[in-house]
Formats: sequence, C-alpha cells, structure tokens
Amino acid sequence: MKAEHYVDGAFVSAGTVFPVIDPVTGAGSGSAPEATREVVDAAVRAGRAALKGAWGSAADGERAAALRAVADGIDARFDEFVDAEVRDTGKPRELAATVDVPRAAGNFRAYADLLYGRGERAFTTAVPGWSGGSGQALNYTVRRPLGVVAVISPWNLPLLLLTWKVAPALAAGNAVVAKPSEETPSTATLLASVINDAGLPAGAFNLVHGHGAGAAGEFLTGHPGVDAIAFTGESATGAAIMRNAADHVTPLSFELGGKNPALVFADADLEAAVEGTARSSFTHSGQICLCTERVYVERPVFDEFVSRLGDRARALKDYGPMISAAHRDKVLSYYRLAREEGATVVAGGGAPVFGDARDGGFHVEPTVLTGLPPTARTVREEIFGPVCHVAPFDTEDEALRLANDSPYGLAATVWTRDLSRAHRVAPRVETGIVWVNCWNLRDLRTPFGGVKASGIGREGGEYSLDFFSEPVNVCIQI
Ligand code: NAD
Repeated sequence: MKAEHYVDGAFVSAGTVFPVIDPVTGAGSGSAPEATREVVDAAVRAGRAALKGAWGSAADGERAAALRAVADGIDARFDEFVDAEVRDTGKPRELAATVDVPRAAGNFRAYADLLYGRGERAFTTAVPGWSGGSGQALNYTVRRPLGVVAVISPWNLPLLLLTWKVAPALAAGNAVVAKPSEETPSTATLLASVINDAGLPAGAFNLVHGHGAGAAGEFLTGHPGVDAIAFTGESATGAAIMRNAADHVTPLSFELGGKNPALVFADADLEAAVEGTARSSFTHSGQICLCTERVYVERPVFDEFVSRLGDRARALKDYGPMISAAHRDKVLSYYRLAREEGATVVAGGGAPVFGDARDGGFHVEPTVLTGLPPTARTVREEIFGPVCHVAPFDTEDEALRLANDSPYGLAATVWTRDLSRAHRVAPRVETGIVWVNCWNLRDLRTPFGGVKASGIGREGGEYSLDFFSEPVNVCIQI
C-alpha cells in the first residue's frame, strides 16, 4: 500500500518516500512519505483553523454522530483494514480480525456513547461575612478542549492504539495531528480515508507519516502550536519527547514500556496459570506492552510450572515475526545475553528455520529462561519479544519484593485461588493494572496506564476525556 499524509481534508504525498517491509517475508510491501517540517506545520495550522470553524462549534451530538460514522466506516471496510494490519505487522490474521480492527471501531463507538454519560459537579457556596457581596454563589464546571493535540503511536497495535487516542481526543472537541509508526503506516491511512468519507470538517483530523527522532515525530512534539501530546511507545522515547516539549510546557499523556511480572502461588489452578502465562508471554510474539516477561512461581510448584510452560513454548508453531530485522536482532541479542548471564534455556533461545518464505522474515522462537538473578539485565530490561524468565519464591512478601524490583510498572498478573491473598497482594504490586487469574481482560471504561517508567496519566473511559479537556470553574454570585 502507498500511504499518504492527510492534511486539511486532502491526501498529500509530499516528501521523500521510504519503504514499508512485510516482516513475515522481509520483502517490500508498500511505501510512505516522510513528512517535512512544512507538512507537519501545515497539519498543525489546519487543526487550529478547524477549531475556529465548524469543528470548534460542533455540539456534543454532532461530534458523537461523526464518531459513529467513523466506526461504521471501519466496519464497512473491515477486510481492507485486516489485510493492511496483517501486512504491516505480520501478526496472525485472527488477532487482527478479532482484536485490532473491531476494537478500533469500538473505540469510536465507546467515546460517542461516553459523551452522553458525562456530567460535571456543581456547588452552591456560602461564605459568611464575605465583604465583596452576598457570599452566596453557584459554582459549576465546564470542560473545553485543549486545542490541537498530537497523537504518536507505536507499531505493535497500530490501529487499536491510534484510535484509542484519536477517538477521545475528537470526542472532547480537539483537532488531531496523528503520526503513526514509520513501520506500520497503512491502517492509519485507511482511517484517514474513513474519516474523510464520514464528513468530518477539514482539519479536524490530520495525519502525517515519518520517523521519530530528527524527523516528523520530533517536528510535531516540539511544535509551538501543539497544545497536548498523547504518546505510546518506549520509555526512552517518552523521555526524549518530554525534553522536546519542555520549552512549551506541553501537557503529556504517556503509555510507555514494561517488564511485567506474573505471580503464581502454589494454590493456583496450575493449568490455568500455565495457559494464561503462555498467552501473556507469547501472544503477538510478545510484542504487546502488557506481555509478561518476568514470572515468579512459589517453590512447591516451580519445577512443574517451568516444565509445562516450556512444553507450551515448544508446541507453538504458527507464530508471527518481530516487526523488523532490527527488532529481531535486538531480541536475539537478549537471548545471547541471557546465556552469557548464566540462564538455563528451557525452550527456544534462537531463530527458527521454516524452510519456506518465512525464512526471509524476522521470526524468533518463543523462549523460556530460568536461573538468572534479579540483577541480570535480561530480568530488568524490556525485551519486547516472546520470552519470559521464571524464578522461584518462598513467601508472599518475597514475591512482592521481586515483582516490585523493577524500573517499570505497567501490568501484573496474580494467579491464586485464595481470595484473601488476591485482595492482599493486588494493591501492593506496583503497577497500574493488576489482573487476577486472567490476562488482558479489558473493559474500555477502566483506567489504563503505568507507574514508574511505564507512563504518566491514565487512558480509558472518562480518564481519556479528562486528559483531552480542561475543566474551567465558573463562579456566579447569587
Ligand atoms: P518507539 O518509542 O520506538 O516509537 C513509538 C512512536 O514514537 C513511533 O511513531 C516513532 O516514530 C515515534 N518516535 C520515536 N522517536 C521519537 C522522538 N524522538 N520524538 C517523537 N516521536 C518519536 O516505540 P515502538 O518501538 O514503536 O513500540 C514499542 C514500545 O512501545 C515498547 O516499549 C512497548 O512497551 C511500548 N508500548 C507501550 C504501550 C502502553 O500502553 N504502555 C502500548 C504499546 C506499546
């Protein structure tokens, strides 16, 4: 697919073109234009103009109708979206067809609905003896959009994570300039086409393609006309964006990296814990921010758990690739590092040979490691591949200490049949999300985000609308 920018209601191909690679085979599958500073500037100015025009004065009901039209437009071109997402990411078709694309449409519908469920508080005030008048007042809050917001998204769930920000940003009345990952530009371009057909006013949604550092991403996040930045990606990139945005004190919402722990207690349903951990470590070949990379298992069931998880990893045959040759090389370098650090490789640990076109692609084996100390880099750094390290623990406190010994704090899973233990442990795990006896079971209304190096702020439901709007208090003396 030939991706294009979408600026001020028109598709534009300005800029040098870079190739898009199919990670399953390593062959070229399309191209995208690299946005210059001028293209980014035109997109920001188009957003500002839209806010002064029809989009800025659209009522809640009109914006909700526009979001529903976008959701319908995604549904109508469902197969096209699935094809494009599979081609760009190499993820199994079933994943794109059951998660990425339906959730993208769902994000627009969810925020159309939420616009109506939302209200603000009002206070009647009495300040006895106030010298300026009656001292009686009515205080109420109105929310206004932030303005032109930049949305920057990664390659692992390209459409889902993009729409997860674009839908609430538009619902709250902002204009958007979005930049998807340079690795996965296709579904964002289809989304622009759907938004165009849905009839949103020109400039309400703009799309620019290109790379991050020293390119479109940096031009956008440092632009003085950008009123807020919503970013999902690596923690180091978040830090770079923060520095770039500091001069303009631009508000930030960050969903960053993770090194997510699973805590498996001896009283757990072991089969469910093994199955759940295999899912949480190997789905999308470990390239979901919520994937488990550290597993802590209570000693009496440790050997049994490791043996069964190793079997699961070896049994996986039809898995997708890493997004790029560079990312494959990074993951394989961690497989080598783990050995150097003294790990036992229970399963995987290399790159597979399929004997077909996939050998040109970027696959790595699902891998299970044991035997490393908590200080090992393999246990501390985000790998973002199909790999987990399993270590034993003896007490609940030790399990929590090990789980919390991390610079990251995105998501955790706890496996236990003891209800009291679940309630005791869950609030003490230092992550923004804790799943008990499940993984990645999501209700879009719930807060989503991380602590420590895993992020700033929360997305989901009203949390996103809170970020994308500013409360203004009005005080009327009565
Ligand atoms: P990345 O940080 O390399 O890139 C993400 C986006 O930022 C891309 O669009 C990229 O072009 C842009 N970018 C890169 N450098 C930039 C800069 N200096 N200024 C502005 N923009 C810049 O991340 P990735 O490799 O695409 O994605 C994988 C990472 O994302 C992992 O760390 C993963 O944990 C994280 N992630 C987090 C969540 C979450 O919800 N917490 C969800 C998905 C992925």
